[in-house]
Amino acid sequence: MSDCIFCKIIAGEIPSYKVYEDDLVYAFLDISQTTPGHTLLVPKKHVADLFEYDTQLASDVFTRLPKIARAVRDSNPAIKGLNVINNNGAVAYQSVFHSHIHLIPRYTKNDDFSIHFVDNSGDYNEVKYTAIQESIVAHLGD
Ligand code: AMP
Ligand code: ZN
Repeated sequence: MSDCIFCKIIAGEIPSYKVYEDDLVYAFLDISQTTPGHTLLVPKKHVADLFEYDTQLASDVFTRLPKIARAVRDSNPAIKGLNVINNNGAVAYQSVFHSHIHLIPRYTKNDDFSIHFVDNSGDYNEVKYTAIQESIVAHLGD
C-alpha cells in the first residue's frame, strides 16, 4: 500500500532496526521503545488490523511470534517477562493501520509499561455474562 509507513519499512524505503525477516513477516524495533527491546512483528501483506486476517495469514504471523519473543527475551538478561499487545481500531489505541503485534519486554512491575484492566465484575450477573458468551459463540462461524 503506497501511503503506508510499515509497507515502506518492509520495502526498505524507510529505515528500521530490523530484527527478523522472512518471506511472510518482518519484525523491527518500535521507535518508541516503551521498554528497551520493544519490537513490532508485522505481516508483509498489508492488512489494516486483525479483523482482516484469514487463517493462513494468522498462521504466518502467530506461528512466528514465539521465536521472536524468545529472541527478544534472550537479548537482555534483565528481561523477566514480555507483554504481547495488538491494537485494533483507533478506539483501541491503534495509530498505524498496518496490522502489527507489539512485543514489550518487562523488567520490573514498575517499568515504563503499564496496562490496567478495570474489574467490572460487580456490575455483572450470570444473565449478563451468558448473553455476552452466547453472542460471541453465535458469531464464531462468521
Ligand atoms: P499502535 O499505536 O498500536 O498502532 O502502534 C504503532 C507503533 O508504531 C507505535 O508504538 C509507534 O512508536 C510505532 N512506529 C511508528 N512509526 C514508526 C517507525 N518509523 N519505526 C518504528 N516504529 C514506528
Ligand atoms: Zn502497509
